[in-house]
Amino acid sequence: MIVQYQDAYWNPELQQMEMCYEFIDDAEKTFAEGGAPDPLQRAIDATDAVFFHEMGHMVVDIYDLPITGREEDVADQVAAFMLLQPGEDDRVDAESVDVLLAMADLFDMWGQAAGDPDEAAYADVHSPDQVRVYNLLCWAFGADTDGNAVIVDEGWLPEDRAVQCEAEFDQINNSWITLLAPHLKE
Ligand SMILES: [Zn+2]
Repeated sequence: MIVQYQDAYWNPELQQMEMCYEFIDDAEKTFAEGGAPDPLQRAIDATDAVFFHEMGHMVVDIYDLPITGREEDVADQVAAFMLLQPGEDDRVDAESVDVLLAMADLFDMWGQAAGDPDEAAYADVHSPDQVRVYNLLCWAFGADTDGNAVIVDEGWLPEDRAVQCEAEFDQINNSWITLLAPHLKE
């Protein structure tokens, strides 16, 4: 059985994030079945990235932030924004990229297990899994086109999309810096 976001979510009534142990167990099983060399580590990484996705829902809710895209896509953008901030050397941290790509990998496996999207998948509040995978790959590449060149070199992300990813990530980055600026504390 494939368990999705019911096991990790922002609860607006209780104002709390819920990350269930079942989520990480299920991710570990999914990675093990997919032949990942270290399924537990991959599951921990993917769950870390999902934490930042849920944090996206949290900040939109508690700061009442204006958004003009579907909130699930916005939450994926927040995960990318949080994990792809450059360090003092101006490079994106490789471990944080792995964390984001583990979430992309998990969505990829869910998507493959589910087969072609059906009406329910197209109508869902989440974009279809494979769409989310390509978004995450695009933003990781766009945040550091040299450091993450493997994403294009290995053919994970089509060239037609890749050429736009630096601009796409810049736009997300600038938008979230603007949205969060009034709430940031030193
Ligand atoms: Zn969500």
